[in-house]
Amino acid sequence: MNPTKKKRIINVISNNNPTSKKTFNLLIKKLKEKNFVVPEKYDSQAELNICIGGDGAFLRTVHKYNFPNVPFVGINTGHLGFFQEILPEHIDEFIDKYINKDYTVEEIYLVKANICTHTNCFELFGLNEIVIKGIQSKVVHLEIFIDGNHLEKFCGDGIIISTPVGSTAYNFSTGGGIIYPSLKTLQITPLSPISSRAYRSLPNSAIIPGDIPITIKPEYRYENSILIVVDGFEIRYDDITEIDFIIPKKTIYKLNFDKNMYWNNLKSKFL
Ligand code: NAP
Ligand code: MN
Repeated sequence: MNPTKKKRIINVISNNNPTSKKTFNLLIKKLKEKNFVVPEKYDSQAELNICIGGDGAFLRTVHKYNFPNVPFVGINTGHLGFFQEILPEHIDEFIDKYINKDYTVEEIYLVKANICTHTNCFELFGLNEIVIKGIQSKVVHLEIFIDGNHLEKFCGDGIIISTPVGSTAYNFSTGGGIIYPSLKTLQITPLSPISSRAYRSLPNSAIIPGDIPITIKPEYRYENSILIVVDGFEIRYDDITEIDFIIPKKTIYKLNFDKNMYWNNLKSKFL
């Protein structure tokens, strides 16, 4: 081997399901045969992250490594994977295409929440969505503003703020629209909005440009009844006064090998 040649490092991350573990061992063997280095521990200087599992495994990996700049590719061992393009039986083909640079790089937009309490502010990043819900199944009462303009006083189970890639997840099950991933937008989708003589909440989703802030202020009487769920992980803060949502500058990257993948996936998953 030429000693001056730069090492090509690839991280391989797998969930614990038996098919994933088998795929993991096979993939590492094949990558090594092609002279790639697969480190034992995650290396932030790697050129690629390969994630084995379903969409949930992809979400957890992205959070675990804190939304890294290293691009991702997913090998699907779960159900139909929106993030997980490669099938275990196509590993050889995938490695050849990767070496020949036969792919495009997709930028994946995230959602950022800036959460302020009476004493502090915190930032949270989500890949699919950030959900505001009531604790203990209580109705939430939220003032919603778009770019500083009051939109509504929402009452109901909660609100989903979904990214374009997250639009096919929780947002979709709740009746939200499918947003093509290259559209830089956030979608506000109501969860069981109450519309009665007492309360008026929008019954449908609204889709907002990603650079316009969405602000949510819980009614002060209900500041402590708010639960935040980021990509399926629950987080509690006390005394939330305001939450601002926006598409942040920070993005992650995914390699795409098949340009028809998105539409084929959509059809086979949902129809
Ligand atoms: P999970 O309970 O296994 O996820 C629920 C389902 O959502 C799984 O089938 C998962 O696919 C799929 N999924 C995840 N991201 C997706 C995406 N971007 N497009 C299409 N489908 C997607 O939990 P999880 O695997 O940790 O996933 C967390 C996500 O579950 C949350 O971000 C939220 O979007 C979603 N969720 C959905 C509902 C609902 O639909 N009523 C309720 C709560 C949460 P895999 O089987 O490949 O993992
Ligand atoms: Mn899952």
